[in-house]
Amino acid sequence: MERDPRPGLSGVPPASIEAWLAERGHPRYRAKQISDGVWRANARSAGEIATLPAALRDALDGAFRLDTIESTEVVVGDGGMTEKSLHRLTGGTVVESVLMHYPARPGSRERHTLCLSSQAGCAVGCPFCATGELGFSRDLDAAEIVDQARDAARRLAAHGRRLTNVVFMGMGEPLLNLDNVLAAIEALNDRHRFGLGARHITVSTSGVVPGMRRLTALGPQFTLAVSIHAARDALRDVLVPLNRRWPVAEVVEAAREHARATGRRISYEYTMIGGVNDTDADATALADLLRGDHAHVNLIPMNPVAHTPWTASAAPVIESFARRLRSAGIQTTVRWNRGQEVGAACGQLAAERAGEPPAPVVARRRKLLVEASAAALRGERSHEPAPSGVGS
Ligand code: SAH
Ligand code: SF4
Repeated sequence: MERDPRPGLSGVPPASIEAWLAERGHPRYRAKQISDGVWRANARSAGEIATLPAALRDALDGAFRLDTIESTEVVVGDGGMTEKSLHRLTGGTVVESVLMHYPARPGSRERHTLCLSSQAGCAVGCPFCATGELGFSRDLDAAEIVDQARDAARRLAAHGRRLTNVVFMGMGEPLLNLDNVLAAIEALNDRHRFGLGARHITVSTSGVVPGMRRLTALGPQFTLAVSIHAARDALRDVLVPLNRRWPVAEVVEAAREHARATGRRISYEYTMIGGVNDTDADATALADLLRGDHAHVNLIPMNPVAHTPWTASAAPVIESFARRLRSAGIQTTVRWNRGQEVGAACGQLAAERAGEPPAPVVARRRKLLVEASAAALRGERSHEPAPSGVGS
């Protein structure tokens, strides 16, 4: 399918829009009217910006897309507390975002958090992840990332609510699409555009060390979360194939440098997979790796994914894993799922819609995973190369 060549307006820097207007002889205040249309009214077409003259509206629609999301299908789950969206982008690409509502509690205000996608599919190929199963399709541009937030903001505004947090934990590896992700974050963070505070933006990475270093050099613009999932290389090679290129010790060192440079705590995500990475030895290895760091570990029971033989660790196992970490002085929380529908494992809906692979393919995949994780538990490192197409 052909792709729409017009850039998405929410990804165009304000100075470029001003220049575009000036070239056409429009007065400067038109820039503010366009900005209000894009960022306050979340307009989907120039026709919705009533303050603009008709000719300018037509010219704007001819040159830019006011919304890069062509259509959205929303699936509400968890008694209305989660909204999974499948967004269709130009060229027929489909990505997923998940809006999660957290009611106010004593000591904390109500929050509306969007888990958004940075790529269609993902090249890293973590076997427990639905997006990893889909493989890599393409990078999203800045507007396609930001427009997921504008879509959520539009739906929230209909109920008098605001988007309070954005987490890059949907489809894709944000640090393998860093230029577009940084441009999107700039737009989300800019108080004249989306206006979300830096502390309300979290970027999650599976450990792309050069990208982490680049973020460190930029300073504290948002929270960095690192998907660690295993402290031992043999096992992490299987769970996060990128580990074969950037081993866990390098990832943790890059995270430490980030924490030192920014004064911000590093957050680690650890998906708990029953019988695979939840043993006492794994907890001890993680505690040893992070001991003395200003770190926070978030344990996430694995959401079952069709093509793997694995499921979440049992609750008592998770509790015991958490206790071991805490007794080593590492701040640890457990993110209990709000039912299977919750959005920690974004990409599941898209994978479902992409259709199940044939039964023999699933069976072969499962067998390989069982063998690989068993070998990893025995301490053998895999000799497979790192996934291709992930840079160096
Ligand atoms: N690629 C980035 C960000 C997207 S994945 C990364 O890996 O960090 C966001 C988070 O969801 C990661 O921590 C990932 O490990 C987790 N995740 C993926 N599949 C999951 C599953 N089936 N169950 C629980 N968490 C999962
Ligand atoms: Fe990609 Fe993250 Fe899924 Fe791994 S967990 S396949 S890095 S999206």
